[in-house]
Amino acid sequence: MKWSLIGASDIAATRLIPAMRELGHEVYGVMSSSADRAKIYAAENGISNFTTSLEEAVNWPVDAVYVSTTNELHAEQAIAAAKAKKHVLCEKPLAMEIATAKKMVEIAAECGVVFATNHHLRCSGTHRKIREIISTGKIGTVYSARINHAVSLPERLRGWRLDAAAKGAGVVLDIVVHDVDTIRAALGADIVEVTTLVSTQSLGQNGIEDSSMCSFRMSNGALVSTHESFVVPYGVTSFEINGSAGSIIATNVMGQDPVGEIRLRTAAGDQIVEPDDRENLYVYSLRKFEAATKGNGSPAADGKDGIASLAGAVAALESAKQKKTIDVVALTQGAN
Ligand code: NDP
Repeated sequence: MKWSLIGASDIAATRLIPAMRELGHEVYGVMSSSADRAKIYAAENGISNFTTSLEEAVNWPVDAVYVSTTNELHAEQAIAAAKAKKHVLCEKPLAMEIATAKKMVEIAAECGVVFATNHHLRCSGTHRKIREIISTGKIGTVYSARINHAVSLPERLRGWRLDAAAKGAGVVLDIVVHDVDTIRAALGADIVEVTTLVSTQSLGQNGIEDSSMCSFRMSNGALVSTHESFVVPYGVTSFEINGSAGSIIATNVMGQDPVGEIRLRTAAGDQIVEPDDRENLYVYSLRKFEAATKGNGSPAADGKDGIASLAGAVAALESAKQKKTIDVVALTQGAN
């Protein structure tokens, strides 16, 4: 596959470009809003072509476009790519508003291109194994889950995420979207309600939240609580699911690397469950995406998944703002 990169971003340089190359894909060119940054980024990442023109970048002779700019730019760029008949892999959150995300997905469908959302966690061998344990009934009826996704935002990423509301700053649009996707993928259920508290504890500026705690009600009746933070340097991430016949306690599984442990606790006692593989999460995501562009299956997370994860995050922000529980289904249906 040949790729055009929209956005001279950290995530492309650190994760996606290496993953594309591991699969033998070609990174054809990169677009940045700054001519200098485009040139430097291309040189640093061994990319032959660079531009500041969106029009040029989506019309390069490529199969697909990867959009990884700041969040307010995703929609215009993804739509331009779809209209240029390029398959689209777009970073989360898809957009700043649910209605915009719906439009992106709708236009991609009209243009006949594959549209995927880059939710890496569901691509992890640990998360796929958790999904298998739940879906094969090993823990019975799922009653509740808890995600601890409180981390320390790396120094190099302490820019727009902490102060620029117009670019989609804040821990909710950054991490709650991933947690919503993780819950949906693992439980095979949708979010119907959310109640959230947010706080600015040390890194956030201009009133941007750097920590959040959310409570979700799922369409299968399960209750889920999540904790997201940019300001916790020594925590351990975890994902726990409690069912009528067992519990899953997975630790160190909410990061970008294929690590972590799954413990299954049932009447038979505790058992450490090894995932079937520990493939690079981004390589897995790209492989599923490539297959989907060739008519084989679906991307790991598609456009509907991206709309749903954004809706969960937007609802969480609304809940914190209005100090009440938000009906996510009504909010999503009403966003047009
Ligand atoms: P970056 O801050 O690295 O890049 C975002 C944009 O910032 C770039 O497109 C670039 O604009 C601009 N930029 C980069 N460096 C500079 C600089 N030195 N001075 C001025 N502007 C600069 O963001 P991330 O890579 O962390 O995130 C990008 C997107 O990817 C976001 O939507 C985020 O939510 C998502 N993401 C997803 C992850 C995942 O695992 N799925 C993980 C991390 C991020 P230009 O292109 O115009 O040069």
